[in-house]
Amino acid sequence: MLVTPIHRVALAFMAHPDDAEILCGGTLIRLARLGWQVHIATTARGDCGSATLGPDEIADIRLEEGRKAAQSIGATYHCLGIDDVCVTFCEQAIRQSIDLYRRVAPTLVFTHPRFDYMLDHEQTHLLARAATFSYPIPNASTLPQVQGAQVPWLYYADPLEGLDPYSGPMIEPTTLIDVSAVIEDKAAMLACHASQRDWLRSHHGMDEYIEAMKRHGSTRGKTLGVAFARLSFSTADTLIPKMIF
Ligand SMILES: [Zn+2]
Repeated sequence: MLVTPIHRVALAFMAHPDDAEILCGGTLIRLARLGWQVHIATTARGDCGSATLGPDEIADIRLEEGRKAAQSIGATYHCLGIDDVCVTFCEQAIRQSIDLYRRVAPTLVFTHPRFDYMLDHEQTHLLARAATFSYPIPNASTLPQVQGAQVPWLYYADPLEGLDPYSGPMIEPTTLIDVSAVIEDKAAMLACHASQRDWLRSHHGMDEYIEAMKRHGSTRGKTLGVAFARLSFSTADTLIPKMIF
């Protein structure tokens, strides 16, 4: 028997502006087209995302890019405003995360995996787990509770290139989502992050920003026998993807 959430609200809770677009943008597009309310949140403000601009200047640009990317699929963007490389599983960040959940009231959440190359990602994973578990607890936040608030389903996206930073080999996906039909929409969404795309393009002499996203999607797609796939959840629970798609 399939369990249908009361509210169809998906939240991608990631570290940096552009992480959601790279890691689960195709899935978010599919959800939005199925009528889900979609939110993208980042813990960090992207202030280290430039070699030439100052922290506030690049953070302003990146937050605007995050808003534009979310808007392009009818989603809403949120940012906790923590500095890059300083995301920490501390009381203040936990409270901020719970309050965000309280406002969004998600029934489905995507975040980073437990282990990844970037510690902001790992700390964001911990914050997502803390908020996922605790946001429906009445005393966990002073913000009002949405009626019917419940612990959402929580899924973990791939680490960078699917690699466990300690053990090396690619992690074994439990669930893959076919995003072949929306791959160009996903690329367009990711291209909203022009500051990062231009930086990599000048560095690599090619459109590495978009190409790397497609390359990993293509690798995961081979497992599924499709062109592009993403979001290889590191959990044994495949109920929600079956229900959604
Ligand atoms: Zn990131």
